[in-house]
Amino acid sequence: MELIRGIAVAPGIVIGRAFLLGESEQHVPHRTIAPTEVTSEIARLDAAVAAVIDDLRGLKERTERQLADGVGTEAAKIFEFHIGLLKDRTLLVPMRKRVETKLVNAEVAVAEEFQKLAQQFRSMGNEVFRQKASDVIDLDRRVLAKLIGETESRLSNLREPVILVAHELTPGQTASMDRKKVLGCATDLGGRTSHTSIVARAIDIPAVVGCQRVSKVVEDGDTIIVDGDTGIVVVRPDERTIEQYRLQQEKFSEFRASLRALRDLPATTTDGTHIRLMGNIEFPHEAESVLANGGDGVGLYRTEFLFLMSDREPSEEDHYNAYVKTIELLGGKPLTIRTLDLGADKYTQQRAAEPERNPFLGLRSIRYCLQNKSIFKTQLRAIMRASVHGPVKVMFPLVSTMMELREAKLILRDVCEELDEEGVKYRADVPIGIMVEVPSAALMARTFATESQFFSIGTNDLIQYTLAVDRGNEKVAHLYTGAHPAVLQLVKGVLRAGRRARIDVSICGEIAGEALYTMLLIGLGFRTLSLVPSQIPLIKRIVRSVDVPQCERLARKVGSFDSERQVVTYLRDELRKIDPANVGSWLAE
Ligand code: PEP
Ligand code: MG
Repeated sequence: MELIRGIAVAPGIVIGRAFLLGESEQHVPHRTIAPTEVTSEIARLDAAVAAVIDDLRGLKERTERQLADGVGTEAAKIFEFHIGLLKDRTLLVPMRKRVETKLVNAEVAVAEEFQKLAQQFRSMGNEVFRQKASDVIDLDRRVLAKLIGETESRLSNLREPVILVAHELTPGQTASMDRKKVLGCATDLGGRTSHTSIVARAIDIPAVVGCQRVSKVVEDGDTIIVDGDTGIVVVRPDERTIEQYRLQQEKFSEFRASLRALRDLPATTTDGTHIRLMGNIEFPHEAESVLANGGDGVGLYRTEFLFLMSDREPSEEDHYNAYVKTIELLGGKPLTIRTLDLGADKYTQQRAAEPERNPFLGLRSIRYCLQNKSIFKTQLRAIMRASVHGPVKVMFPLVSTMMELREAKLILRDVCEELDEEGVKYRADVPIGIMVEVPSAALMARTFATESQFFSIGTNDLIQYTLAVDRGNEKVAHLYTGAHPAVLQLVKGVLRAGRRARIDVSICGEIAGEALYTMLLIGLGFRTLSLVPSQIPLIKRIVRSVDVPQCERLARKVGSFDSERQVVTYLRDELRKIDPANVGSWLAE
């Protein structure tokens, strides 16, 4: 039995037989062709590519029909991108040339050109390009399958329900899964925001990615357990472990059912303090999930996903439609729209002629927007136009200097003047705030509070920048924790500055959705938490089990510790005390 830790991206526990999907080492038949065969071989190649384009169009339509509204459309855009790649002459012409000059069969020309392109992407060494390499490999497989005459992939020929294990799954493979036959999946690579994770969530199968070596450890047919809640994969579990997980599966579904009963109850502590639980979303349709989980609105809308799921720049109308749709789905509940957080691992690297050497410290977020004003203005116009439809707030990410905040506000003012001149309506009193996610902003929170109407603390980034730990690097993941006293001190300072200036301070980093931190956050003074929608019921349950003085005592005690280990141990113990049977068993850290 072996236990592998990865990143939990789609919840639930599944136990089943592993289906190991090999990499693209499909057997490629080599053949030297005669010069007289060149034309017919090129025609074969073109026909295979055309057939794959047809398949992808079909798959795209199927995905749009099958998947949840919104996500289906987003996932389908990935296929559009694949179709675009296959039509790209810079890929096709060298393939044909290879046939012509090297006198090789179409299969060899296809395999060599796709591998060359994938290698170029891989050698660029960051997550965005690795994702592109996997897209290329997916296309390589599809075209080769056509050429070799394999009409159906192994995946679509599954006879019994399995758990898919792969080094990496492409979005195409994930979307082609038959949900009746694929119980869950586990991969070596991937992150929370990779295309595959997005599709896995959309089709709602438990998934763990970033397991590093699961595809090497697992053999085809092995029994495995994928725990999409904790990010654990158990390979060849013994009977006792299977039994334990079965029990956990049952307990967990009962627990989830009991949490559903909390949906319409207020998130109020036993001594009557209301804690607003808001959702973090990436797509408009997720607003429904926020409400279905009993959330009070959206505290963080990561609008950059509009770019990430499209191969073209979204227009003002694209932005506007997404915002209005979200506002309408929320039916009067508040929506905080974060302006584009592009850069680092998102989008700009993907498109850059020269990727940055240190993108997390580079042209990211508000910095990118201030250097790409037309993109920024397009978004701001759309937000302001949408503001007449419901209660929206604007939030600037990754602000690290006062000049950035002032410049961003000036641009917003320009946008409003333009709208005035055009006679376009907007709400003039839209609150403007910042994410506090860089130590410089946290340390200068008192100054920032004089020109912001609210703060939202982004601990995901604040942790990485305070502790010098890349949030996406599994090698240093053990050093990445919100329990570090340095992080907590910064958080306290921001709360203090907010209180003095009488502005709202909420928190929208992942720790807002982790049961371990709930009492601490209440004790520190937070009254608004913004978190992944599916965690809202669990956090509500904790809120409803504690009182504020108890949380404040806990926070004071935590303040006396000098190491993150002490903090975590203490928080665990306290959480177990309030709900030993349920919450205590699902600790995230
Ligand atoms: C954060 O940094 O905490 C945050 C919420 O933003 P993101 O995870 O999108 O960087
Ligand atoms: Mg952030």
